[in-house]
Amino acid sequence: MIYRHVFVVRPVLETIRDEARRARYRETGGPLVGYISEDRALVVTHASGPGPRAQLRFSSVLIDGVHAQTFCDAVHRESQGRLDYVGDWHRHPGWSLRPSDLDATAMRKIAAFEYCPVRNPISLIYRSLHEAFIVYTLNHEGELAVIPSSLMPTIVL
Ligand SMILES: [Zn+2]
Repeated sequence: MIYRHVFVVRPVLETIRDEARRARYRETGGPLVGYISEDRALVVTHASGPGPRAQLRFSSVLIDGVHAQTFCDAVHRESQGRLDYVGDWHRHPGWSLRPSDLDATAMRKIAAFEYCPVRNPISLIYRSLHEAFIVYTLNHEGELAVIPSSLMPTIVL
């Protein structure tokens, strides 16, 4: 399913902003948690940083998989199973919000993973300077396509 819209709650953006600041000029990223509404919107409710064993570089980030899994499991449990992993975010230190070939390859790998709870995981790309983000998901051709997205002040579950 391709989502009609992605809503990102404000605390998610705040987490991403804090992590980007902490990473200075390097890439950083982490998992996103949320849910899919009945009308095909995806709501991102939680984000985590890269974790203690992550490797942040100037043009790539390798997130700490154990940390990401623990984070997603905790939110899943606390929400009585309503919230689950929906994709990843990462920060581009430069101006471009376009996904790299590596970004597309990474998403194809995640989408093919048998334990991935969503058929179409999203990839949110963020930049700090002139703050902005774009959300992508894999289309039927297996390429990353833009999904319209916006910030949401808060949510009621
Ligand atoms: Zn990237």
